[in-house]
Order: sequence, then C-alpha cells, then structure tokens
Amino acid sequence: MPRMRPTRTLVASIGVAATAWVWFAIGMFRHTPPAAGWGLLVLAVPVAIYASWRAGAAGRTFWRYVSAGMVGMGLASAAAARDYFSGEQAGQHIGTVTATLYVTGLMLMLLGLLRIPGAQRSRIEWTRFGLDVATMVVTVTTFSWHLVLPRWESWTAGGGAAGTASVVVIATAAVIGMLAFVKVSFTGTGPIDRRALYILALTGAVGAGGGALAPLLADKPYLNTGHVLLPTTSMLVCLAADRQRRASRAGIPAPRPLSRRPSVMPYTAVLATGALLLTSAAAGVRDLLAVAAGSFVVTLLVATRQVIALRDNVRLLDDLDARQRQLAHQAGHDGLTGLANRTVLVREITAALAGGCPDVTVALLDLDDFKEINDDLGHPVGDALLAAVGARVTAQLPEGCLVARLGGDEYAVLLRGDHTAIVAAITADLRQPVRAGGHELIVEASIGLAPAHPGDTADELLRRADVAMYEAKGQGKGRQVVYDDRMDHRTAEQSRVAADLRGALDTDQLHLLYQPIVAMPGGELFGVEALVRWIHPERGPIGPNLFIPAAERTGLIVPLGAWILEEACRQAVRWQQEMGDAAPRTVSVNVSARQLREAGFAGEVDAVLRRTGLPPQVLTVEVTETAVFDGGTALDELKAIAALGVKIALDDFGTGHSSLGLLRTCPADILKVDKSFVDDVTGGGEPAVIVAALLTICDGMRLRAVAEGVETAEQAAELHRLGYRYAQGYHYARPMAAEGITVYRPAHRDSRVAA
Ligand code: C2E
Ligand code: MG
Ligand code: MG
Repeated sequence: MPRMRPTRTLVASIGVAATAWVWFAIGMFRHTPPAAGWGLLVLAVPVAIYASWRAGAAGRTFWRYVSAGMVGMGLASAAAARDYFSGEQAGQHIGTVTATLYVTGLMLMLLGLLRIPGAQRSRIEWTRFGLDVATMVVTVTTFSWHLVLPRWESWTAGGGAAGTASVVVIATAAVIGMLAFVKVSFTGTGPIDRRALYILALTGAVGAGGGALAPLLADKPYLNTGHVLLPTTSMLVCLAADRQRRASRAGIPAPRPLSRRPSVMPYTAVLATGALLLTSAAAGVRDLLAVAAGSFVVTLLVATRQVIALRDNVRLLDDLDARQRQLAHQAGHDGLTGLANRTVLVREITAALAGGCPDVTVALLDLDDFKEINDDLGHPVGDALLAAVGARVTAQLPEGCLVARLGGDEYAVLLRGDHTAIVAAITADLRQPVRAGGHELIVEASIGLAPAHPGDTADELLRRADVAMYEAKGQGKGRQVVYDDRMDHRTAEQSRVAADLRGALDTDQLHLLYQPIVAMPGGELFGVEALVRWIHPERGPIGPNLFIPAAERTGLIVPLGAWILEEACRQAVRWQQEMGDAAPRTVSVNVSARQLREAGFAGEVDAVLRRTGLPPQVLTVEVTETAVFDGGTALDELKAIAALGVKIALDDFGTGHSSLGLLRTCPADILKVDKSFVDDVTGGGEPAVIVAALLTICDGMRLRAVAEGVETAEQAAELHRLGYRYAQGYHYARPMAAEGITVYRPAHRDSRVAA
C-alpha cells in the first residue's frame, strides 16, 4: 500500500477530540464554562459527516449511511444542549428526544451495514446474531443489576424513570451496534475495508461505555459525557473513513472467505453469569433470584444458539456432500445429453467383464447424416437432436445396461442379455420422428455390435464395435452389423484401396462400362447407365461396391466423379455422331451424395455439357433418395441441375429413406425401382404390391418408371403386365464397353408377351 498522508479531516478530528478530553479532564477538577464543551461538538460532528461522505467510491452507499448516522448523533447532541440550557434536564439526564435521535443515528449506520452487498447474511446467521446480542444484553443487564444499579439509585432519583430508560436504551443500542460491526467484519465485508468496520465498532463501545461515566459526573452539572463521547466518536468515524480511502486506493480487497471461527462470546457469557451466581449465592446477596434468572436466561440463549449452529453445520455438510456428488457426476457425464462419458462406460464394461458376464455386448451407434442436419438446420437443432436421441436410447435400456456419448453423434451402449431385442427396440423407437428445434426429424443410426468373449477388454470391444459400425455405414443407412473377424481385413483393405485409388485416376486404371436401359417388351435400346470399373494393376478388377464407399469417405469421389461425368458425356456425343437417331436417347451417370454436397456442382455439370457439346436433355443424373432426403445443399444443387434441362433419376428407390413426400420436393423425372422388389415380383406377395403401387404413383406424377435388375423372362413379363415400359438388367444386357452399345440388338422379345 502506498504511503499516504492522513486526510485533513482526520487531523482535524483528532485535534478536536484531544482538546475535548483535555477540557473534560480540567473540568473534573474545577468548574469550566459549559458552553465551550458544547461548542466543541459543533466542530467535531460536521467533520465526521464530511469525512464519511467522501470516504470513497467503494461501498459508497454504506458510507452515506454512516454520514446520515452522524447527522442523527449531531442532532441528538443539539437536543441535549437545548435540554441543558433550557434547564429541562438536570445534570446528566438524557431526554427522550435526545435518546431517540441518538438511537436513530445508530440504526442508520446499522442499516448501512445490512446493505453492504458482499455482507448479505442468511436467515440463520441473523438468528444467531440476534441470539448473541440477546445473550450480551442479558449478561450486561444481569451485571448492571447487581453491581451498577444499586449505586445509581441515588443518582436516578432526581431524573425520574424516563431518564433512566433513555440511558439503558442508548447503552443497549450501542452494544448492539458494536456487535453488529464486529460480526460483519468477521464474516465478510464486501467492498468495505475490514479494519474500518472494527474502528466503527469501537464507536458503539464508546457509546455504551460512556453511560458508565455518567454517575461520576453527578456533582458536576457543567460537564456532560457527550462532550468527550461525541468528539471521540467523530474521530473514530474519520479514522475509519481514512482507512477506507487508503484501502480503495490500494484496490478492491479480495473477498475473504466466510469465517466460521467459533465465537467465544457465548461461553464467556455463560461462565461470567455462572460465576456471578456462585459468588452472589456465597455472599448471600438479596437479589439472588434476579442474578439466577439472568444466568438461566443466558444459558438458555447460548444453548439455543448452539443447537441452531449444529443444525446449520449438518445442513452445510449435506450441501457439501451434494456438491461433491454433482462434481463427480459432471466429471463422468456429458454436459449436453447428461449421459455417461467414455471413462464411466469403460469402467462399467470392465466391471461387467470382470463379473464373468457371458452376455455382454458393446454397441456403437452413429447417427446417419447428422452432419447435414447440423450444417443445414444449425447447431442448436443438432444439439437438441443429440439430447433427444440420448433420451430415447436410455428409455429402451433394461436394468444393468448403460449408454454413453463418446462425442459428436456417436453413442456407445453396454448391453446385457439378448442384444438383438434391445437393439430392435432402440431402432424402432428412433424411427419415430424426433422433434428438435421446431423440426420433425427422422433419424436413423448405423449400429455396430461387438459381443464379448472370455478375455476381452473394454477397449477391444469398443474397437470392434467401431469396425462393425463402419461396416454398417458402408452397407447403407440404418443398418446393424455384428462384428466378424473378417471385417478387420476389410477395413484394412478399404484404406489400402483408398490409397491406391489416388494413383488410379492418373494412370488410366479406370474406365466406364455402359448397361442398356431398354424399352419393354421389345428390349430396344432406350438409354444407357454408365458404371465405373477399376482394373487394379496387381489385384485385377475391383467392384464399385468396394471402392466407391472408400472414395466417398476420403472425398476422392469428387475428382473421380468429375472424370466419370466428363467421360460419359464425351461418349454420348461420340454415339450421336456414330449412330445418329439410333444413339442412346439418354445417358445416366451416378452421382453420390458427397458430390452433391460440393458447392457449385451444378455449375460443373453445366461446364461439362458446354465442353462436350452434349444437349442437356440427353444426360440423366442418378441419385439415391438418401442423398437428397435431408434437403439442404444437395437438394439445391439438384434443382439447379434440373434447371439446366438435365433429367434426374431417383436410384434404388424404395430402399433408402423412402418418403413419398420427397417426390414433391425433389425435381425427379425418373424413378428406378430397386432390384430387391423386382427379384420377388413374380412371388405375388408384398414386393409385387409395392412394384404395382410405385407404377401408379409414377403415372400420376408423370415420372418414368424403370425396373432395375431384371434377370429373368418371368420378371420381365410380370413387370410388363403391371404396366412397366422400361427396364434394366442382365436379362437384357450386362454392362458393356462403349463399342458394345454401338452394335446392341435386342436379344429377345419376351415370349409370353409376344404370345
Ligand atoms: P446402381 O447405380 O444401382 O447400378 C446398378 C448396379 O446393378 C450395377 O452394379 C449393375 O452392374 C448392377 N446390375 C444391373 N443389372 C443387374 C442384374 O440383372 N442383376 C444383378 N445382380 N445386378 C445388376 P455395379 O456396376 O457393380 O455398381 C454398383 C453400384 O455402384 C451402383 O449401383 C452405383 O450405386 C455405384 N456406382 C457404379 N458406378 C458408379 C459411378 O460411376 N459413380 C458413382 N457415384 N457410383 C457408381
Ligand atoms: Mg445407378
Ligand atoms: Mg440402382
């Protein structure tokens, strides 16, 4: 703290107080003019009012209350002076107005104390404080009753009951004030300097102790205790204000932790009154009953205080306990969903495995297309979805199971017992639309399952579940896959494939085959679908079902897809030149979801059409339902492509997020009915019904229906009977090189149709 010179107000107040005491001391021995004693007060009080008013910005409200309190005390001394000079109160007796003003001043200071922001107390603390004050008051009263009052009897005789009451009221108020200041300075003072409060507490002591001087002055009517007490009080207030200014200069003090130091005052009070009772009893004093009553009351008050303190301590311990539990919970749980985290889950899995549970399975659940939801609808919606999914999974878990969030949209579940049933319940529940941020979302999850074997660790199970989950993702959306040792090889292979694929683009290892899309029943060439092939220099042909997912995961699909698109368009132009009217009327190119999410994809399609000179209406872009299901960028790009005049086909229709509503938002021209329905179309069951219904929809919405994967004449006949007019499949032709298309002739007209 920088050294500071004491404020002028402080110097002045010390001067006034010293003068007052000297003057008072002289008065003890010889008569002094009373006007001088009262006159000093006119100097002392305004200085204190000014000093506390200017005590500083920190805790300004409190110091304004102190100022107001000093005004009250100043008025009290003015009233006392008036009483004295008008002769209304003889000697040391205090009038009611004086006492009221004095107590009001003191109460204003106490009010300021209550309004210190950092010093806000709980009800229990105030109760305890009240009990302390009561204890103090009863103790003091008991002692005064026994020691002081008998001696005062002669003195009070002249002043009457009212005068005595005033003295008692002032003394009591001063004691309460002192205790309050001490109490607050112990338990937290907010912005107020602690030592300033101690000093202010002394003013209470001065007020209370001053009463004791009164009997000494019984024979000196020209003196008044106020002549020294008020200058002393003023000096203390100036001193406190000075402390506050220094402390504020040095910076706001760090709040001191709440002190729970046990107070010795209650015990002292019990001991003191007890001792008084004993000595009085031994001396056979006549007011023994009063002393005994006082001692009893003090004991009762202290006992009550201790019971309250004890109960408070128990409550504090409970709070502490709850806080600790909450902290432990936070450490083991995910803030967003409230689910357990990885640490807790691993601990639980380890415990379950150690228990020799043969039926432990670890499931890893990853939401499909969560990234798109997050990107398109915003993070708050994404967060709400994650929480909702967590709640749904939790709701389906039987006793002993646990779900944790591992991060992102990935959840891990410890399952016990029949995992198939639990997983079925979870996926069924997840399929119900989830309300998140005002959106109705349909979520699907890819789930990998790893059943435990003897000797497995939690980490190994989580790893296997992860491998299985990736396998599930590769198979499409919303699948569940149980881990199998071969998957590890496949995962390794996929990374190898992705690495090799980079080189494949530059070294002509890739080429396109074209599969005819034919008109039924004649089987005449209507269009072709371009299908990519990769001949690996060492490993031979690799199917797109293996490398397309790898390319999608690595993002390589973007340059790969661009190459495919350009190559197919070039070939289409070549056919037009070579074949004229017989050329395929449409050339289909598969476009993956990842490509559609690439901003500016439509622009690239346009550029390719311009470069190659292919009329837009010859090109068809094939996308799966899932790619555009969530709306957002993919759908926007698709609309832009359609606006170019390019046709849009919904591929593998019926296997993905089949939503008929999609047909209204998505600018589709062609619907490719998935092979899985075609396979069973001759069985007459559900697939046949679906195939028939899809055709009705296509007719109603002016979409061209293409049946995919037609392998047999029976399927072809049935499809034609149902009304299908376009088909694709091995029954007509396998994917072939571009030259094959030039010479393509229908192999066979469907005999039954012909008949
Ligand atoms: P897709 O778009 O549904 O293509 C049809 C697939 O079914 C092709 O498999 C085709 O050879 C096969 N197929 C056609 N008729 C029959 C049949 O009668 N029976 C059977 N069993 N299969 C038939 P492919 O060429 O192996 O392609 C598989 C998938 O890989 C494609 O399904 C497509 O999703 C993807 N794909 C192929 N080429 C490309 C491409 O250039 N770009 C992108 N993004 N994906 C491609
Ligand atoms: Mg396709
Ligand atoms: Mg298909």
